[in-house]
Formats: sequence, structure tokens, C-alpha cells
Amino acid sequence: MDIKKIREDFPILKREIRGHKLIYFDNAATTQKPLCVINAISEYYKRVNSNVHRGVHFLSDMATDSFEEARKTTKEFINASKAEEIIFVRGTTEGINLVASSFGEKFIKESDEIIISAMEHHSNIVPWQILCERKKAVLKIIPFNDKGEIIFDEFKNLLSGKTKIISLVHVSNSLGTVNPVKKIIDYAHSKNVPVLIDGAQSAQHFKIDVQELDCDFFVFSGHKIYGPTGIGILYGKEKWLEEMPPYQGGGEMIETVTFKKTTYNKLPYKFEAGTPDISGAIGLSEALKYLNRLGLANISEHEKQLLEYGTNKLMSIEGIKIFGTAKEKVSVFSFLLGNYHPYDVGVLLDKLGIALRTGTHCTIPVMDIFKIPGTVRASLCFYNTKEELDYLVENINRVKEILN
Ligand code: PMP
Repeated sequence: MDIKKIREDFPILKREIRGHKLIYFDNAATTQKPLCVINAISEYYKRVNSNVHRGVHFLSDMATDSFEEARKTTKEFINASKAEEIIFVRGTTEGINLVASSFGEKFIKESDEIIISAMEHHSNIVPWQILCERKKAVLKIIPFNDKGEIIFDEFKNLLSGKTKIISLVHVSNSLGTVNPVKKIIDYAHSKNVPVLIDGAQSAQHFKIDVQELDCDFFVFSGHKIYGPTGIGILYGKEKWLEEMPPYQGGGEMIETVTFKKTTYNKLPYKFEAGTPDISGAIGLSEALKYLNRLGLANISEHEKQLLEYGTNKLMSIEGIKIFGTAKEKVSVFSFLLGNYHPYDVGVLLDKLGIALRTGTHCTIPVMDIFKIPGTVRASLCFYNTKEELDYLVENINRVKEILN
């Protein structure tokens, strides 16, 4: 991959911040957008803007075609078997809430059990807690080891005849761990338990094939995969989506409405109440096509090199501790520098033009397990370079001197 050339696709990467070249290491929070995505959204509003599915006029047809084309692009991107299994939602958070609410309404009853892991983002904890409270169900937690790897045997022990669903993060946003989801799905299915995979941090790093994984649900966010904010994808196997009740009521999701009885639309519209984020879907689809052009395998390879290089470089800094050292990892570095508060380190690095994140990264339980207030997190993606990592390491040393 010609990274120099690829960086040209991202106008924001040319910015200077406080007199320094921007180094954007906050990709797990949100990724930057290539020009083709920005242009697709802008062109949509300049030339097409209309509501979908309802109009008889030319522009409405055009908007509908582009919107449904975006669904097909997404279906192919994750290799779903049908476009009807692709539901447009606001993001990972809404996708999980939809499943927790709708699947939960139909299939969860008192004293049933739901399994998640100890490394979930709050978005994959709280919706299940709300459901458990509503249905008097029980949430069970798979622990992880010191490296941040899920303990498979503990998972096996948690699974029982009462387990109704497992909801698991594919890649941890605070530790970088890639979980062995295929192994977990296979084992869960041997006990007839469905599995939801939170792909917020995986689909942008390596190829996802939902049929091969055989997951029952898969969710991800547009803005973390080089697309716009406000759009995300819920993939669900048709057999579950058919059985689940609607999540929200309104236009689009109905077949007919009378004051006596309302009937619901077919999939995927049953779960898409109201006017959807049309430009968001178009922008997302453009981002997915862009990734296809770069090639997910090339992206993974470059990011693997960044991970190796960055790990060695960071480890050479005296007093640094990296959290998340799993064998299978993406290019995320979560660390603490001596006893300095992560916030102080982050603020000083920002003054030097380095954008990264400090805090708990919406995984407070992970921080509690490590007994730390939070970490500094540098999360890299394919447009990052080894030179940027050199600059980071150089400046962590500078920050150390300043704090000393
Ligand atoms: N799960 C994981 C693993 C995440 O990293 C995030 C975002 N940080 C979410 C869920 C929530 O994603 P969103 O805010 O886009 O809904």
C-alpha cells in the first residue's frame, strides 16, 4: 500500500494543530473520512435529495435506488446471504439496543441468563442490564486474563440451559484484543444459543464474513469505518428478525394501519421506522467501496506492521506499562506512563499535535479489573505511519521530562 498516496484521500490529515502536523491516533473513537465519502454525501444533497420509498417522482426514485444500493454494498461487504438481513440503524449502540429490546421482549423471561464479557463497551453492557431489570433475567460475565484474553473454559462453565443469548465484543476498544468469536459461536451453537457480535472495532480492520462466522447478529458503526456519523448496521439472521417484534413504531415499518389493528412491513423495513439517514447510508456505502478498493487484507497487513513496530518502540520507554497484550490484537496501544495521570499525559501530547484519547474508553469495568483510573490510548489505522509512531515515542519521552 502506498500510504503517502492514500493519505492524500483524507483532507483532514493535511491540517496543522497548534503549529504541529496533525497526528491522528484516535481512530477507535472515530476514523477520518476520505474525499469520496465527503463528496458522495455532498453530491446527494446537491443533486438528489428526496425521501425514499414513498415518492413517485424522479428524485425520490433516485434516492431510493441509492439507499437500497447501499444496503446491497453492505450485504456484500460482510457477505450476508440476503439484503433483507441488513438493517440501517444509528450505530453499534442502537443496533445492540434493538436486539436487547426486541429479542429480549420475545425470548427472555424471568431467571433466563445472558452472557457478555468483562471487556465490553458500555454499549454492550447497559442495554442488557436494562433488559435484565425489565425481565428479571441474569447477566453473566466471562472473565479475561492479565493479557486481556477471554478465558474460554470460564465461558464454557457459564453456559447453561438457562442461557438465551451471548453478546460479545469482537475487538476490544480499550485493550485491542481480537476475541476468538468463531470458537465461541461454534460452542454456543452446539448448545443452541445465539450470539451477537459487537463489530464496532473489527469490521474496519479485517474481513468480516457473517456466514462463515455463523453469528446470529453482527453490529457496527459507519463512523468507525471511514463513513459518516449517525449510521450503522445491524445484521441479523432472517429467522431471528422474522420472529422478533418491531423495535420502534412509525412510518416505513407498517404494512397497513387502522385504529383496530396495524400490520407490519416485511424485512428489513419492519425495523426501520421513520425517515432513515439516507445520506448516511450512501456515505457508508462509499466508505465500504473505498475499503474494498484498498483491500482488507492489505489494510490488515499494514496495521499489523504498525502494531509490531509500535509495541517494540513503546516498550523501550522506561516506566511505560501497556494494557492489553493479547496474542491476537489490532493496532491499539493502551498505556500508562509511570504514576502520571493519563489525562496529564494526553493533554501534553495534544499540545504537540498528537490526537489520542485518555480515560476509561467507555469500559469502566476493564479499568476496575486492572485497578487503574484509565489509560492513554493511541489507536491506529491504515493511514498511520511508522514515522508518526516515532514522533509519538519521542514526545512521550518529552512529556515525561516535563512532568518530572
Ligand atoms: N462497542 C465498541 C467496542 C466500541 O468501541 C464502541 C464505540 N467506542 C461502541 C460499541 C459504540 O459505538 P457507537 O458509539 O458508534 O454506537
